Amino acid sequence: MSKRQINTIAVRTGIETDTTHGAVVPPIYLSTNYSFLGYDRKGDYDYSRSANPTRNLLAQALAELEGGAGAVITNTGMAAVHLVCALLNPGDILIAPHDCYGGSYRLFDSLSARGLFEVIFVDQNDEDALGQAFARGAKLIWLETPSNPLLRLVDIKKIAEQAKSHGTLVAVDNTFLSPALQQPLYLGADIVVHSATKYINGHSDVVIGAVISKTVELHEKLAWWANCQGQTGSAFDSYLTLRGLRTLGPRMRTHQENAAVVANFLATQSQIKHVYYPGLSTHPQHDLAKCQQSGFGAMLSFELDADKSQRIEFIEKLQLFCLAESLGGVESLIAHPATMTHAGMSAAAQLEAGITPELFRISVGLEDSRDLVADLTQALSVIGTRNE
Ligand code: PLP
Repeated sequence: MSKRQINTIAVRTGIETDTTHGAVVPPIYLSTNYSFLGYDRKGDYDYSRSANPTRNLLAQALAELEGGAGAVITNTGMAAVHLVCALLNPGDILIAPHDCYGGSYRLFDSLSARGLFEVIFVDQNDEDALGQAFARGAKLIWLETPSNPLLRLVDIKKIAEQAKSHGTLVAVDNTFLSPALQQPLYLGADIVVHSATKYINGHSDVVIGAVISKTVELHEKLAWWANCQGQTGSAFDSYLTLRGLRTLGPRMRTHQENAAVVANFLATQSQIKHVYYPGLSTHPQHDLAKCQQSGFGAMLSFELDADKSQRIEFIEKLQLFCLAESLGGVESLIAHPATMTHAGMSAAAQLEAGITPELFRISVGLEDSRDLVADLTQALSVIGTRNE
């Protein structure tokens, strides 16, 4: 059969594979352990930390969706980020974005402070800074595109080519787009990481992660470490995530249709200083987004032209955007990165990354976009109209 399309892989993985009762949807295997076939004769499974049939189905789906040789399912997205760090030894250099997700920044910074490797945070669009970092002989470069929370992009193909010439591995955090909208392994990356808590599960009811590798060798190394360090995901979480994954394609389509409406609306509001959304023609990397991604996604951020009390009032007025961490669920969310998602960064690091107190991040959900715009309109009215 020819290579299957994204929606087919997402919907069909594991369907009609149950040979015991002919269940259409694959059953969940909650058992911790599996009987040996006999003395020194192990079957396909022995202990669920090492491997589990339900988790394996999710891994199979994600590996196929990203075009990888294999996937490790981890118990959180941060466990996935941490797992990739197992490839680094003391003295190795990791190049990371200066504006990556706050949890990743904190992990890299803390592990580096313990001497497990050295991290260099750089603005990866600053060619000189990036060139200098590569020149030091990095083992791994970490990309996050679009970035959290400012939706900055980096050119995966260009950086991967540069990395190859230095013998540097490339890992991409693809959480913001999912494989439905971006497939970094086809652009030259070696590893893709997901907080599958977000769009892959899509229903804000599971915390889970994934690491997909391009080669069998890398996958086996990471799978070994995941078992060794106890980072693998549970069967129950894997089951729910596989269920959520089946609707990834249609969800992403509606998410981004709604996001385009919300971004265009916000861009015309006088109480808003700036909207960061790769789908707007004013976004400095709109052209890169068009060729690197197969959609613009549904995450956006904006700077409100308001003092602290007005910002608080705006948030309190909103009815359809929950003030909450996380993203990628069916429901719309709003976050204040400086005090929430990126609070793990020092004030200086936040400022350096462009995270101001006026910045808000929205995860646009699947509600009717007319209701979302109406809600934002009434909440923005507390700030009044500027430039009158
Ligand atoms: N990577 C990105 C881009 C994220 O936004 C997050 C969480 O928000 C993570 C990694 C960590 O994932 P988790 O919260 O599932 O541990």
